[in-house]
Amino acid sequence: MTSVPVRDDLAGLAGYHSPQANAEVRLNTNESPLAPPEGWLNELSDELRRIDFNRYPDREASALRGALAEFHDLDPTQVFCANGSNEVLQCLLLAYGGAGRSVAIFEPTYALHRHIASLTATTVVSGWRTPDYRLDLDVVDDLLESSRPVITFLCSPNNPTGRADPPDVVRHVLERAPGLVVVDEAYGQFAPCSALDLVHGDGPGSDRLVIVRTFSKTWSMAACRLGYLVGDPAVVDACDTVALPYHLDAVTQLAGRLALRHADAMEAGAAVLKEERGRIAAALAELPVQTWPSDANFVLFRPLARAAGQVWADLLASSVLIRDCSTWPGLDECLRVTVGTSEENDRFLAALRLSLEDGTS
Ligand code: PMP
Repeated sequence: MTSVPVRDDLAGLAGYHSPQANAEVRLNTNESPLAPPEGWLNELSDELRRIDFNRYPDREASALRGALAEFHDLDPTQVFCANGSNEVLQCLLLAYGGAGRSVAIFEPTYALHRHIASLTATTVVSGWRTPDYRLDLDVVDDLLESSRPVITFLCSPNNPTGRADPPDVVRHVLERAPGLVVVDEAYGQFAPCSALDLVHGDGPGSDRLVIVRTFSKTWSMAACRLGYLVGDPAVVDACDTVALPYHLDAVTQLAGRLALRHADAMEAGAAVLKEERGRIAAALAELPVQTWPSDANFVLFRPLARAAGQVWADLLASSVLIRDCSTWPGLDECLRVTVGTSEENDRFLAALRLSLEDGTS
């Protein structure tokens, strides 16, 4: 055991890992339950042969950035790609955070915003959402006014609570925030609205708006580790400055570029999951649980007649793994289930009914 101390500010900080357990039905990490399209797999395996594996990949990821820019009707200078959207967030915090700077978040929200900020020695200031997990604009205004954060993080739809922020809310935050407004849209394609439209506009602050997206959810490509941001070219340059050389490997660049040819399949998959989300929500409405509306591929709920930890364990005993959020700040007794295939969702609902019946018998 080495006695060399880690940085003082890291002492006591644990790494971020989703707890895993063996289960037949895995509904705990918000991945897509659907395989990517067969056509994409075929094209990928054909084109893999053409990669010069002895050479470093294109450091600029030009082809991928060009394809993403075309997809969003933007310029390639407005797109930055990295290993999952977590690395995009890390680059933003390396470039704009750091000692003496602060970022704002609104709890409960995606834990990595706080975590990566802490890793980069950035101060985190936070406000609470309303009891039904919307942004409270008075809280937002007060926090932005008092702490003047360099980045204000929104998460839309918000993980783990589910709701998306409508464009007028994002516009409001953009008008009040002194720095960048980073909207994490990891689940954006499941939602009825996106802040992407505001990137195209020339409204106040649109040059400070950054949208972060991922291939891990709707694109069924979590194994690839590919995420990106769209924003002002100056933000893209700043992220380029802090990214390691050749950080995005050639296979991932290729996989992402080819995936964009299959956007129809991605959208069809998202539509299926939205249907299933509606089915889960309707079933939960008949059970003794509190739920919140979701614009994402997961649903947050709170069992009312049995302890959340017990329900989670009952489900695992039925080989259904969901996420136990019951000890997270602001999420007392809450559990989160990812929308799976209809068979997986049936297994989840059956196991949940059994657990809740046990609780009342
Ligand atoms: N943002 C949010 C809100 C997420 O929920 C996740 C995944 N859990 C990510 C970003 C990171 O996704 P990835 O690194 O796989 O792109």
